[in-house]
Amino acid sequence: KADGSAQLQVFAPELRAEMEARRRLVADLHDALARNEFELYFQPIVDCRRKTVSGFEALARWAHPQRGMVSPAEFIPVMEEAGIIGALGRFVLREGCRQAARWPSDLSISLNLSPLQFKSPTLLADVRNALSSSGLSPDRLHLEVTESLFLDDAEGVLQTLQSLRQMGLVVSMDDFGTGYSSLGYLSRFPFDKIKIDQSFVRDMARPENIAIVRAVMGLGSAMRMTVVAEGVETVEQMEQLEREGCREMQGYLFSRPRPAGDLPKMLMEIRSRFRANGYGVVRAD
Ligand code: C2E
Ligand code: MG
Ligand code: MG
Ligand code: MG
Repeated sequence: KADGSAQLQVFAPELRAEMEARRRLVADLHDALARNEFELYFQPIVDCRRKTVSGFEALARWAHPQRGMVSPAEFIPVMEEAGIIGALGRFVLREGCRQAARWPSDLSISLNLSPLQFKSPTLLADVRNALSSSGLSPDRLHLEVTESLFLDDAEGVLQTLQSLRQMGLVVSMDDFGTGYSSLGYLSRFPFDKIKIDQSFVRDMARPENIAIVRAVMGLGSAMRMTVVAEGVETVEQMEQLEREGCREMQGYLFSRPRPAGDLPKMLMEIRSRFRANGYGVVRAD
């Protein structure tokens, strides 16, 4: 018993400090929402067969007054747990649609939705409002959700997916292959797109990763879903993905996510590189 309480004394201050840091982060995030410290960065999604940019994915950043740009990996899970992801989600939806409405009309915008936002009773109304106030055509709005969506209430998820598609939106399964879902979900749920997670793209020297990419491509074509590869960093990865029949790609090879003002520059750089065949030999068929 003496040992046990001694251990408790060692742990308790650390635990208390951790809880305190967490409380402070949540309070800072509340302030950040009130002060509009969030902004969207944009990363191009390219169509390697058409040699063009098909759209941009919006990625949330927190412009922290002291720390600079904070990654969503740090604040999204905390905001979900603290129940304040809804306000950020509505900002992303509104701001993403507002920005995209000013782009050339052949460009789509992809927005990430947290499972909580997807299941929110106001989601469909939030989407309708963002579309009508921006004037963005619904078919240019792509929503990305992850497999954790399926942890409960599959029936509700199915209804929301169907409503979004009836409205003309495109719905993508993000980070495919990393989550809890089985292949069966893909046949039961009407996704338009599958995004192969970057963990499979990163190391395609491993035969099992190539096998996974190949399997996802097969699923995509059988179910008429477009497949997008994430995390493409090298020409070798791009060429290997092309050999597997993948045409849509996203990754540092083409561009890192950048602020809205850099969008014209990104478009110009990628287009001129494609014209000069700067990404290597692109299969022509
Ligand atoms: P995600 O939706 O899978 O986004 C792709 C992530 O991979 C982004 O990280 C992007 O910067 C990064 N990435 C892109 N290309 C490459 C590459 O070639 N190499 C490597 N190593 N990484 C690459 P980011 O911006 O830090 O976002 C992380 C995650 O945070 C996102 O993953 C998404 O799940 C979540 N997230 C971002 N913005 C939002 C948002 O507005 N709402 C919600 N709910 N989640 C968001
Ligand atoms: Mg995404
Ligand atoms: Mg992803
Ligand atoms: Mg991810």
